[in-house]
Amino acid sequence: STQIQLVSRPTGWPTAENFRTVTVELPGLAAGEVRIENEFMSVDPYMRGRMNDVKSYTPPFALDETMTGGAVGRVVESTSDDVPVGSVVVHQLGWRDVAQGPAAGVRVVPEVDGIPSSAYLSVLGMTALTAYVGLLEIAHLREGDTVFVSGAAGAVGSMVGQIARLKGAARVVGSAGSAEKVALLTERYGFDAAFNYKDGDVAGQLAQAAPDGIDVYFDNVGGEHLEAALGAFNDQGRAALCGAISQYNTEGEATGPRNMANIVTRGLTLQGFTVGGYTQHFPSFMADMTAWVTAGDVVFDETVVEGLDHAVDAFLGMMRGENVGKMVVKTAR
Ligand code: NDP
Repeated sequence: STQIQLVSRPTGWPTAENFRTVTVELPGLAAGEVRIENEFMSVDPYMRGRMNDVKSYTPPFALDETMTGGAVGRVVESTSDDVPVGSVVVHQLGWRDVAQGPAAGVRVVPEVDGIPSSAYLSVLGMTALTAYVGLLEIAHLREGDTVFVSGAAGAVGSMVGQIARLKGAARVVGSAGSAEKVALLTERYGFDAAFNYKDGDVAGQLAQAAPDGIDVYFDNVGGEHLEAALGAFNDQGRAALCGAISQYNTEGEATGPRNMANIVTRGLTLQGFTVGGYTQHFPSFMADMTAWVTAGDVVFDETVVEGLDHAVDAFLGMMRGENVGKMVVKTAR
């Protein structure tokens, strides 16, 4: 099995030198295990946090060990009756072409015509569940709300915008980091207005895009975006704090919102969450999302990078904004 390991902990932006590729001889299967040829692996922003040696909701990657993360592949050998050869499975043994472990650690997923297995890492997987839970269970979206989403052309953000519209938002506004992405937001994902945060003045651009203020903010970015949202909120506004990617590779002091008074005077609610605490919503999410995708009410994009040897580049590219929708690596040879 070809596998990618973390060999040193990055400060600021990771570089190729922080990683190495190794070839590992896999032992025979023990009872109740499966061997999987991975088809796709996920690269996700939270993995940057795992490269640091700090306690968090997921433990840090160990140095000189193969990294882990979401992946989907086909079982090629099995000593488990529950997960026979040929099953397509989602599991956590990414960053390698061939994975092996207990069948209890994998989830068998259906093969559906027209839906690539990578969808279980995107629109039918963790990132879309994050959008669903964050919007409905954390921000408590109501009909008629004006919703603002940052990171809106990414895996989570593109789902937030579409789910908001389907669940009755009156106006959906998004921000992203290029003119092409801004065009996608309004032309493909159904946003009512969008702007490029790299043009500057996030607060001013948000005020133009949402002249009557916002009721919900789905925060993927933190920093200046969160500050702008706090200034744009209507009374009883609600923010789902999902991530703060503008700060994941920052060295030194991070910038944060300075206008905290609005939280008090407008009676705002800001709630952080990690999706792992809300997996009880997976069945209702799957039912809704499968119906939406089948009906064409939700469209999704994936940016596919070919080859495990480009997985680190894919991860860094995602952090720099080279993806539209979900960034995945095609590991199948
Ligand atoms: P994306 O697909 O959105 O990819 C990351 C995107 O972040 C890039 O495409 C880039 O788009 C944008 N970005 C990078 N740097 C900046 C910056 N300085 N300012 C603004 N945008 C930036 O990733 P995901 O959808 O997987 O994740 C989105 C967010 O959700 C992250 O913060 C992540 O940590 C969080 N998350 C949280 C979960 C939870 O359980 N709480 C679960 C999953 C994700 P652009 O070109 O627009 O800059």
